[in-house]
Amino acid sequence: MLVTEIYRSIQGESSFAGLPCTFVRLTACNLRCTWCDSEYTFTGGKKMSPDEVEQEISRLAPSGLIEITGGEPMLQERELVPLMERLLRQGYTLLLETSGERPLERVPREVHKIVDVKCPGSGEGGSFREANLETLTARDEVKFVLADRADYEFAREFALRHKLESRVCDVIFSPAFLKDPTVARDSSNCQLDPRLLAEWILEDKLNVRLGLQIHKFIWEPATKGV
Ligand code: SF4
Repeated sequence: MLVTEIYRSIQGESSFAGLPCTFVRLTACNLRCTWCDSEYTFTGGKKMSPDEVEQEISRLAPSGLIEITGGEPMLQERELVPLMERLLRQGYTLLLETSGERPLERVPREVHKIVDVKCPGSGEGGSFREANLETLTARDEVKFVLADRADYEFAREFALRHKLESRVCDVIFSPAFLKDPTVARDSSNCQLDPRLLAEWILEDKLNVRLGLQIHKFIWEPATKGV
């Protein structure tokens, strides 16, 4: 497998936000979102066997939460799926963060999928694979990263049209962060003001979660490996 980093931190997103978590960040992505904060995963990486990845995970924490992320982790589906099955058998709770563009049928049902639907402002609008909707369960979460009002309206219509609220445990609306953030650990680095987003959600009576990437409020937003 090609791995950018494996590290322990605090989960910053999803309904697991705030919990200690081991992150396995796999190398490479086939999309190019305008606001991507993980461009350092596009190239490089260290070759590791699934056994070595597993050993590093258990060295960092023998139990608890693991997030598989990237880049786009499902580009390494052939090695990743058996690894996820092994980690589940060991009792870990697994999160898989994915762009929503790759097929998700082979992901074990016990994995909590956090599936993006890319909005127009990402530059990758239309990349979502609609067949993935059929793979979603009450364990999963669907996330929209929003840069502006047009993205919000896209997300609102998509969520309503596909009745996402009844398919998954959480629908997350999350403001995009600036590409080159300052060192400020506050919402001045959000492309879309969270307060404005909160007002829109309340005004439209949506049952969605406003997601903030809390690691960017704990550490300086550009810090890697947290
Ligand atoms: S899918 Fe994720 S890693 Fe790939 S470009 Fe978009 S934000 Fe970056």
